[in-house]
Amino acid sequence: MEPKHTSWEVIFPPRCCPYCQQAFQPSKHRPDQAVCSRPECQAKRRNEYRRKKRLADSEYAQVICDSRRKWREAHPDYQKNYWLTHPDAAAHNRQQQRHRDQKRRIGLLVKNTLVLDLKHSVAEVWLVGPLAGELVKNTLVSSKLLILQPPSPALTPTATS
Ligand SMILES: [Zn+2]
Repeated sequence: MEPKHTSWEVIFPPRCCPYCQQAFQPSKHRPDQAVCSRPECQAKRRNEYRRKKRLADSEYAQVICDSRRKWREAHPDYQKNYWLTHPDAAAHNRQQQRHRDQKRRIGLLVKNTLVLDLKHSVAEVWLVGPLAGELVKNTLVSSKLLILQPPSPALTPTATS
């Protein structure tokens, strides 16, 4: 009597695909194959893999963050010493911080007071100063607004007109 199955099928019996619930024969090249070879099921398998990997990556990133935070807590003087020994980087950081502070202050000002006051005004639109562009972009696309801002040399490297 002929054997019903080939020897391969006896060693690796068909299994059930978790996505389509169909029986399939695992590939000889991948005996641990758990998903059938239909493109839809393989796509689902890849999506699942990517999802798990992203999750694992974010956990990994969290571990890195935690260990950096712990390291900083254990070396509280490091950042201070870094700025002391890297004056150029420190100056750059201070300038960046000034820029961020200024943007935040003007943003708050606009949000809290000017917009309310000027909403009903029919004043012409005058946007003055290096941050006018930022304001238009971020908050005041259609508002009518007059801002008189003192020139800030640090922020106007391309003041031409
Ligand atoms: Zn399948």
